[in-house]
Amino acid sequence: MKKCSHFFDFLISHAKTYGFIFPSSEIYGGLNAIYDYGPHGVELKNNIKEFWWKSMTQLHDNIIGLDSSILMHSDIWRASGHVNKFSELLIDNKDSKKRYRPEILIQEYVEDKFFNDPKKKEKTLSRLSQSLKKKDLVDIKVLIDELCICDPISKTKNWTNIRHFNMMFKIQNEKDLYLRPETAQGIFSNFQNIIKSNRMKIPFGIAQIGKSFRNEIFSRKFLFRMREFEQMEMQFFILPAEEIKWYEYWKKNRLKWHLELNLEYKKYYKLCDHDHLSHYESAGSDIVFHFPFGFQEIEGIHSRRDFDLKNHEFFSKKKLRIFELKKNYIPYVIETSLGLDRLFLAIFSSSLKKEKLENRKIRIVLKLPYYLSPIKAAIFPLVRKDGLPEIAKRIFNDIRIHHRLVYDEKESIGKLYRRQDAIGTPFCLTVDYDTIKTDTVTIRNRDSMKQKRIHIKEISKIIERETGLRKILKKLSYII
Ligand code: ATP
Repeated sequence: MKKCSHFFDFLISHAKTYGFIFPSSEIYGGLNAIYDYGPHGVELKNNIKEFWWKSMTQLHDNIIGLDSSILMHSDIWRASGHVNKFSELLIDNKDSKKRYRPEILIQEYVEDKFFNDPKKKEKTLSRLSQSLKKKDLVDIKVLIDELCICDPISKTKNWTNIRHFNMMFKIQNEKDLYLRPETAQGIFSNFQNIIKSNRMKIPFGIAQIGKSFRNEIFSRKFLFRMREFEQMEMQFFILPAEEIKWYEYWKKNRLKWHLELNLEYKKYYKLCDHDHLSHYESAGSDIVFHFPFGFQEIEGIHSRRDFDLKNHEFFSKKKLRIFELKKNYIPYVIETSLGLDRLFLAIFSSSLKKEKLENRKIRIVLKLPYYLSPIKAAIFPLVRKDGLPEIAKRIFNDIRIHHRLVYDEKESIGKLYRRQDAIGTPFCLTVDYDTIKTDTVTIRNRDSMKQKRIHIKEISKIIERETGLRKILKKLSYII
């Protein structure tokens, strides 16, 4: 437990030091569960988005894209059930005035205290699960009292009763306007526009990447649970009779996609069927990842049946149907919903390594998949004299239009290598005295740290071949 929290603190600090993630509004003391992506963070995040987007829209001929607005008509949230049902359980500590999700308080307590007593752990979690199923808020409170759980801040057991708390952010001064808590409703509300403008036939999917907002109760898990975050969602519209076929298809398909990321923890990815169904789903399953703080959901696959379109028909009084083969029906929907920030954290946490070198020094290296690395290659002159910087800059200028590169000459070569290792740059190119004579540079690989000489003309081709998305997309096109 301690080891994992030590690694997590190191990860958060590394993300800040190397320009991946900054706490939002830091100069004003920060804002709970809100983060900014720094210069390297935004490149990595954009690469992840591009990978997902291309996997969805280019590798499936029946999936198209959309970018709908964050603010939508308030009836959308009534029809979708979010106004009445999108709530979490909440408990306050009267002394610290802090808010907690009671089930998470219990889960974290049990993970920590019953670490060596799996029987007790299972018994407590199963009682929690039963009470959640029965919506027995009184028993959950009794469980907190029986376990003598204290507020980590005030250290007291002075708890309020448990109540429901709506997670949507309402915009002040604007009656009933909300920040969207999921991107999916933009897809449902555009259903007819998309069918008509794109002549879509069942089955087909609509993919979207965008910001969502949830007034989450603060959980100290960095990017895992934020109040402003991004989702990469796809709603797949199907014949009602084919619900099980497509639900199983998308569960398998999404798991395969994750496994192709080839993260070190790939053995920990698995599918867990939902115990508690959300208000919109008739079946649900999570892809679970081993984050530094344990197994947690990274992506949900849900069968939403006709829940959304049917309710939007009712509220909007518009027909949201498919007319095919003389049939008129509301299609069912299978949804895949992936948190971009959670995927970022999964990739970042499993790529960050401390390696012991032969000289017993430690190097910190971010072993990102090459196609996701924020910077594909760095170019340095061996020394800042004898025309080497000019040659290095010329090479840099020639190639920068094709790839995301950096030119650096601020430190010694050894230090420049270490910095690029920490950022996850797959290749470092060094211009030295032989470059003047032979038009070659050294190319050093991040993972093996081995160097070889290549001709200047080969650089762009090698970077494209090794770090471009093409290779992984080609592989995926045979798999998913
Ligand atoms: P959780 O149970 O962890 O709160 P959820 O089941 O409410 O998640 P969904 O509504 O299914 O999540 O959302 C789909 C995906 O969006 C999740 O699998 C997750 O990756 C991401 N997500 C949801 N809430 C957040 C959040 N607060 N911060 C970051 N990502 C989130």
